[in-house]
Amino acid sequence: MYDVAIIGAGIIGTFVARELSRYDLKIILIEKDTDIANGTTKANSAVVHAGYDAEPGTLKAKLNVLGNSMFDKVCEELDVPFKRIGSFVIATDEEEMKSIKELYERGIKNGVPNMKILNRDEIKAKEKNLNEEIIGALYAPTAGIVCPWELAVALAENAADNGTKIVLDRKVTDIRKKEDGYCLYMDKETIETKYVINCAGVYAGEISKMIGDNTFEILPRRGQYNVLDKSAGNIVKHVIFQAPTEYGKGVLVTPTVHGNLLVGPDAEDINDRENTATTRDRIEFIRQASKKTVKSIPFNATITSFAGLRARPSTGDFIIEESKKAPGFINVAGIESPGLSAAPAIAEYVKDILKEISGALKEKQNFISNRRPVIRFVELNDEEKEQLIKKDPRYGRIICRCESITEGEIVDVINRNVGARTVDGVKRRVRPGMGRCQGGFCGPRVMEILARELGKEIMEITKDGKDSYILTSKTK
Ligand SMILES: Cc1cc2nc3c(=O)[nH]c(=O)nc-3n(C[C@H](O)[C@H](O)[C@H](O)COP(=O)(O)OP(=O)(O)OC[C@H]3O[C@@H](n4cnc5c(N)ncnc54)[C@H](O)[C@@H]3O)c2cc1C
Repeated sequence: MYDVAIIGAGIIGTFVARELSRYDLKIILIEKDTDIANGTTKANSAVVHAGYDAEPGTLKAKLNVLGNSMFDKVCEELDVPFKRIGSFVIATDEEEMKSIKELYERGIKNGVPNMKILNRDEIKAKEKNLNEEIIGALYAPTAGIVCPWELAVALAENAADNGTKIVLDRKVTDIRKKEDGYCLYMDKETIETKYVINCAGVYAGEISKMIGDNTFEILPRRGQYNVLDKSAGNIVKHVIFQAPTEYGKGVLVTPTVHGNLLVGPDAEDINDRENTATTRDRIEFIRQASKKTVKSIPFNATITSFAGLRARPSTGDFIIEESKKAPGFINVAGIESPGLSAAPAIAEYVKDILKEISGALKEKQNFISNRRPVIRFVELNDEEKEQLIKKDPRYGRIICRCESITEGEIVDVINRNVGARTVDGVKRRVRPGMGRCQGGFCGPRVMEILARELGKEIMEITKDGKDSYILTSKTK
């Protein structure tokens, strides 16, 4: 019998797993997909928000500001890139100036440090490529950017290093209350656990209904994006938001932590919790909308587009509590934006709930806080590269030319705890296929390495799990 079963291995489930793995608990993290972070966590703006957006007094406000302050430490411990680049909310007329002043006041109430309202000249000194019509901006230096799926993978690896059992390709299909806990039915096995933590993203409402708790609904809202090549990554240096209006928050423009440019999202209510398709009209809408703040984005440098689903709660705020219908069952639901930013604080909040309902949690003496560092070949100096290649010649073989990723790095991420099993799994961990050619050159070579390292036939290697086979038959 497990002490804790966590459903869903997105950024929330993995943060919770890592936090609880500090304690003497038998934990299982269950994910229906073939990899960690395959839900909303792989498709968002990747901004660690400063925290001025949410209504004061809400869980969103409290956990965003606290979560933001926790990012430096956790990203250092887990060797995940995080850059505190700061954000601007841009005003282009007096009405928008009024709205950024309101954001400033809200930020003060929420405890956001060091914000400033800047005038046109002060902004232009920091950002050269903004629209001429800007008149002012809210500057929040504590905003940052991170790679959400690299962080989730690192958290899962660290939780596994600390004894958490992680099962992929296991969909929870039913939950039954037992006298001393719960029975979780999955498509491939059944387990028993004392406590359940529901971190199932857009499916959190469906999971909650399994134990008879219908007190909230999770409604999917799709957001689409354009990703531009690194040649466009320097167009802006900060996260550039538009001032919120009655029509929404507008489209943001931001560098990514790996040096690309991200433009989006739009907002569209949909019914299908699996529909992450991008559409030509919405991508065109995003491109037009971005002109309000940033001039001349070279959209001919677009390398891909993607969409993510916001898990919009019917209650309006994060739902993080023990279910009133089922003791020992904790919902962590409705974790829409700023869920990524709040995630480290959400994990501590969940730990406190568990501590209260279980009576006590005993800290492990031998918790491993740091992940084995990741070698990023391209970031080494010439001498370091030479030494590394001498030690392991696989670091001398470039597999992805666009991103300069070596065979050594790919082999490493396949063989780590919670290692990559698919072409996209490798791509999300070390980036072959993230560059201009989007895997046209390196894709087949990544498949060969996966097949060799996993002891599989190359025909068995999938793009992203399930039936996403790439090869159908041998030609030679
Ligand atoms: C367009 C967009 C932009 C955003 N931008 C930002 C931003 O810039 N900053 C920010 O802080 N936040 C942002 N967010 C919010 C942030 O992305 C989310 O809060 C966060 O990713 C939620 O993580 P999660 O772990 O709750 O959900 P998910 O990542 O969706 O994880 C849930 C997991 O549960 C699994 N699961 C579901 N059902 C089952 C089942 N029955 N059995 C087993 N497993 C199951 C799923 O497969 C999935 O992997 C944005 C969101 C969107 C959509």
